Amino acid sequence: MRIIIIGAGIGGASAGIALKRLGHDVTIYDQIRENKPVGAALSLWSNGVKVLNWLGLADEVAELGGRMDMMSYVDGHTGETMCRFSLEPVTTKTGQRPYPVARADLQALLMETFGMADIQLGMKVVEIAESDDTVTVTFANGETATGDMLIGADGARSLTRDYVTGGGIERSYSGYTNFNGLIPVDERVSALDQWTTYVADGKRMSVMPVAGDRFYYFCDIPQPSGLPYDRSDGAAPLREAFAGWAPAVQHLIDAIEPEVSLNRVEIWDIDPFHTWVRGRVAILGDAAHNTAPDIGQGACSALEDSFVLGIVFATNTMGVEDALTRYQRIRSERAGDLVLRARRRSQETHAYDEAVTQAWYDGLWKETGEGVIKGIVGNIVGSPVNLGGGLLD
Ligand SMILES: Cc1cc2nc3c(=O)[nH]c(=O)nc-3n(C[C@H](O)[C@H](O)[C@H](O)COP(=O)(O)OP(=O)(O)OC[C@H]3O[C@@H](n4cnc5c(N)ncnc54)[C@H](O)[C@@H]3O)c2cc1C
Repeated sequence: MRIIIIGAGIGGASAGIALKRLGHDVTIYDQIRENKPVGAALSLWSNGVKVLNWLGLADEVAELGGRMDMMSYVDGHTGETMCRFSLEPVTTKTGQRPYPVARADLQALLMETFGMADIQLGMKVVEIAESDDTVTVTFANGETATGDMLIGADGARSLTRDYVTGGGIERSYSGYTNFNGLIPVDERVSALDQWTTYVADGKRMSVMPVAGDRFYYFCDIPQPSGLPYDRSDGAAPLREAFAGWAPAVQHLIDAIEPEVSLNRVEIWDIDPFHTWVRGRVAILGDAAHNTAPDIGQGACSALEDSFVLGIVFATNTMGVEDALTRYQRIRSERAGDLVLRARRRSQETHAYDEAVTQAWYDGLWKETGEGVIKGIVGNIVGSPVNLGGGLLD
């Protein structure tokens, strides 16, 4: 089968690997001219890592992953530890260690595994049209490509989503801006094997270790959307937002080299919706379930899509439309659940209701790890990679 994928992100590239391994002739088209991932790193939880293992990349991903043995919450103002515990139960319960990874590393691994020769960059899709047994995309440069199936992994502002649903699906602002990047590891900021999060005033500043002796830092600042930001402002908004916070947070901000690694992104998501397929065309990844990063599951969910797409095409023989309908059926509810879980978490942590966030802070002082681990594995237990096998105690 000749398959067209729009988008060479984590969703499109992983779907490409899964479908190519079944012997299909797959080409990925992306509008970008070079591979420059937005965002510095991401946490791959056990469900996402398992899909990469299934794609044959277990050793490579383990090599890119940071060693995150412990987790800690710290009072952002005083620097006092609110709680600290081992993340080992996440691994023992789910059967896979989670890994924080630098995005550029993961993106390069996926694209190279898929095969750069079959990725065409600088190709912006502007139109999709189907006949009885083919689908054709038209690019901004006037060229066209025709296949038996089209996967739109074209991200949060997906053109394919409009084609599949008929349009009208809007993103909604999550209420905060995220800044992120990479800095060299520094024990004044965090223990080197630990995910440390400083919290206060509905803000958070967090670091996770990734390969190459680097910390992935990310922070959330509740604020209206559309505020002006000039890249030459560098870390100034962080200095202002975290003024007076603990010395560790100031060390972190001092270590940021804005011209090397500082990204700013407003966070939006999309209400769950369940029309992911029209004929021979399906959406995948953020195009289908744009998820706020509050539970670190957006890309993991895209990887779950690729896993299911691979399984339905490996096991069903009733044609493209039948297999895609099964894909939608397996995926849309589960992915929507993660969107809502992330949204609830965002509302709990960002002091949109101060009493709710204060109650969360109060709970963190008493946290043994059990509650947090329950939340993390709760995001993973319903994953299709578990094949209904649940978690071990
Ligand atoms: C700050 C932040 C932190 C995050 N942290 C995590 C985390 O810790 N863990 C996690 O699992 N997830 C995380 N996520 C979510 C994760 O980044 C996304 O879910 C994931 O990257 C989506 O991948 P994708 O391939 O679906 O879309 P994208 O990465 O957006 O890729 C879409 C691609 O399609 C291309 N494209 C779009 N339109 C067209 C067109 N018309 N023609 C051709 N090409 C087109 C784009 O150029 C792009 O390359 C985070 C997100 C943010 C914003």
